[in-house]
Amino acid sequence: MDDVARLIKAADFAAFKHRRQRRKDAEASPYINHPLALARVLKLEAGVAEMDVLVAAILHDTVEDTETTVEELEREFGHAVAAIVAEVTDDKSLPKPDRKRLQVEHAPHISHQAKLVKLADKICNLRDVLDAPPSHWPMERRRAYFEWAKAVIDGLRGVHPGLEHLFDDAYRLKP
Ligand code: ZN
Repeated sequence: MDDVARLIKAADFAAFKHRRQRRKDAEASPYINHPLALARVLKLEAGVAEMDVLVAAILHDTVEDTETTVEELEREFGHAVAAIVAEVTDDKSLPKPDRKRLQVEHAPHISHQAKLVKLADKICNLRDVLDAPPSHWPMERRRAYFEWAKAVIDGLRGVHPGLEHLFDDAYRLKP
């Protein structure tokens, strides 16, 4: 399967898996907008052209937030993509505070490709908190999210100056 076909297949797969989910903003945007935003940031804003990274970005929340398994991704999209998604997937059997702490602890040790996806995820999430925040999040929670995201990203710097710059641009607008 060529690269364009693989990218289209990933978008279609993620759209189907997330079809019943919505983002937390006031308008309850379709969930697929988020993974597509990661791919846009990576390719259009930061010039990341590596296809495994773009495909993994589109699929990055399917294991964490739907019934998709890493084995299924491996079968459909190959080992490299499945491995990147697995690296950016939180263990949902753990309580939320542990998951947040583990993201900070693990960030320095994940692969280069997973770091690119992680950077794009945090850039998109900061922008969402700024532009279309979850309606029930008080200002204090929005600020705390920014601080936590920065702690994660500070642990993996030196991987892509362009993406890190985009992250810092968003962070500077902290509520
Ligand atoms: Zn995400």
